[in-house]
Amino acid sequence: MSEGIIVIRKGREKPIVQQHPWIFSGAIEAARGDPAPGDIVTVTDYNGAFLARGYWNPRSQIQVRILTWQDEPITRDWWRKMLRRAIKGRDRYTYLHTRDTALRLVNAENDFLPGLVIDRYGDWLVLQALTLGIECRKGLLAELLMELIAPAGIYERSDVDVRGKEGLSASSGVLAGQPPASPLAIIENDFTLRVDIVNGHKTGYYLDQRANRTVLKEVCLEKAASDTQLQQLRVLNLFSYTGGFGLYALGGGAEWVVNVDASRDALELAEANFELNRFPPNRAEFIQADVFDYLRDQAAEGALYDVIVCDPPKFAHNTGQVERAARGYKDLNLNCFRLVKPGGYLMTFSCSGAISADLFQKIIFGALADSRRQAQIIQHLTQAEDHPVALTFPEGAYLKGLLLRVY
Ligand code: SAH
Repeated sequence: MSEGIIVIRKGREKPIVQQHPWIFSGAIEAARGDPAPGDIVTVTDYNGAFLARGYWNPRSQIQVRILTWQDEPITRDWWRKMLRRAIKGRDRYTYLHTRDTALRLVNAENDFLPGLVIDRYGDWLVLQALTLGIECRKGLLAELLMELIAPAGIYERSDVDVRGKEGLSASSGVLAGQPPASPLAIIENDFTLRVDIVNGHKTGYYLDQRANRTVLKEVCLEKAASDTQLQQLRVLNLFSYTGGFGLYALGGGAEWVVNVDASRDALELAEANFELNRFPPNRAEFIQADVFDYLRDQAAEGALYDVIVCDPPKFAHNTGQVERAARGYKDLNLNCFRLVKPGGYLMTFSCSGAISADLFQKIIFGALADSRRQAQIIQHLTQAEDHPVALTFPEGAYLKGLLLRVY
């Protein structure tokens, strides 16, 4: 084999042996054999013994992303085998949710395919290439996906900031097959939703929150059924995007849902989604506002809600931003606590990977203490099961949430 060889510094092999998929530049002793950026390289220990094989990018702090810990060649068949395995891994989900038409098929490092995200939306696939190694092979991957799944088309949405760390600029457009309808319609737990895979956030929709949307529906169903004092179940859906949580709240018997988001386009799609599911327009409001301002205004007016969902964007993009992000989460949640009716619920999230579940809980505790309310953790929430976390890659568990009952 004419592959390049990456030699690991003495004493730095442990995470590799333990199957963490990233090799940082500091762990590398030497690069031999003149590999080109993006090439497959063999990783050896100081004595030349095989450790792993992966793809190389000298411009990234993560110089190697490991593809295999076995001494096997990385061929077209290898990529096919790994794609098949990831897709097959969704059988449990599709068996349990036969009507659903949207799900994540490949969750990057967590499906042992670093840097590659594939989401299915109806007849289309969306591919995200987060690294140079995947960028170099996206044509091959699109070909294999056409063979394996035969979608109507594959659309690329590699317009994410993290590509900058790999020396790559944004890239999007049709990779194979037909251009997608924009927006197109998907089915999720018997709701129909419009998803704009060309212009929407991420690959178009927040599939990772799917299971938590069901939790919200159940919270509403229970509250509507058991609270005899309840006149009208009112739900506040903060950072609503295209209205997913709001739809499930109405599906769970909420009388009134207020959706708040800064994006006019997202709110327009949210409104269309409510109509599509035949909910009367007088049961929902769509407010374009900054959530921080909106909450302060609502608190000043003495507004109260039975259930509040708070699903902000990522506040911390790296460890250096954790402190500032923590202040943001605290401020936000303090105002949420003020607006929950006694006996009501707050469902609050952070999708910042740099903020651990422990730290998030501490931040929420701080907000609660300042609000002088009482709260109980009813459920710890995380990302949906089509976003699995590789046990060797704890970084994969980025979404954390708490379902709190507030008094
Ligand atoms: N809960 C949504 C996903 C939320 S994504 C779902 O399940 O689909 C975060 C959303 O927050 C985006 O739609 C973005 O437009 C919005 N956003 C970001 N900062 C905001 C702010 N300060 N005020 C209001 N909305 C904001």
